[in-house]
Amino acid sequence: MNALMQEMSDRALRLGVPFSVQLDLTYRCNEQCVHCYLDHDDHGEMTTAEIKDLLREMAEAGVVILTLSGGEIFLRKDFFEILECARTYLLASS
Ligand code: SF4
Repeated sequence: MNALMQEMSDRALRLGVPFSVQLDLTYRCNEQCVHCYLDHDDHGEMTTAEIKDLLREMAEAGVVILTLSGGEIFLRKDFFEILECARTYLLASS
């Protein structure tokens, strides 16, 4: 981690800001990799509206780095809608 990132991370920790978040959008996947840590069982998924609310809350909380992951995120039909929402909220708050 470079000095700037370390300083930002340390400052976020002192302020209680969730500096970096990984959001798993789905457990579903069309692959079966031997190294996968997901069980791919149906645990349900957050709705589009729930994810948008969460993204807004993340932006308000000061999240700087957002990783969208899964599962295979492209199995969500609303993925690009979620991505656009994430960009709108998180870039607006920066
Ligand atoms: S989620 Fe990723 S690692 Fe797991 S099976 Fe799918 S492609 Fe492989």
